[in-house]
Amino acid sequence: MADNCLFCKIIRGEIPADKLYEDDQLLAFRDIAPQAPQHFLVIPKKHVSGPGALAPEDEKMIGALVRKGAELARENGITDCRLVMNNGAGAGQTVFHLHLHVLGGRPLSWPPG
Ligand code: 5GP
Ligand code: ZN
Repeated sequence: MADNCLFCKIIRGEIPADKLYEDDQLLAFRDIAPQAPQHFLVIPKKHVSGPGALAPEDEKMIGALVRKGAELARENGITDCRLVMNNGAGAGQTVFHLHLHVLGGRPLSWPPG
């Protein structure tokens, strides 16, 4: 946990979120500024600043996180979806607590802008 991290505050319940899933290591909630009809985030409860900061001991957690994102997409009726993690400000990362974006419900073009 990091005191001033927005997503750690959501984990601690200090900031409300529209939660989809929670267990002892993961939390999923809807993005406050959705970029598609379905847009939610899956985060670890452990504070990791981004994919580039993952440690070898996080491998099981990150596997569970990606699997849960795909499972929640299916459960929310998204057949085709994009699972994406931004790593670094230049790649669009604005919250420095690792998160998997799950987007769907509309055609998604490639490459992203
Ligand atoms: P990033 O740009 O770091 O990859 O993604 C951060 C995401 O967090 C953005 O899509 C943004 O809309 C979302 N976000 C920022 N603040 C909040 C918040 O307070 N609550 C929720 N639910 N999402 C947030
Ligand atoms: Zn955090």
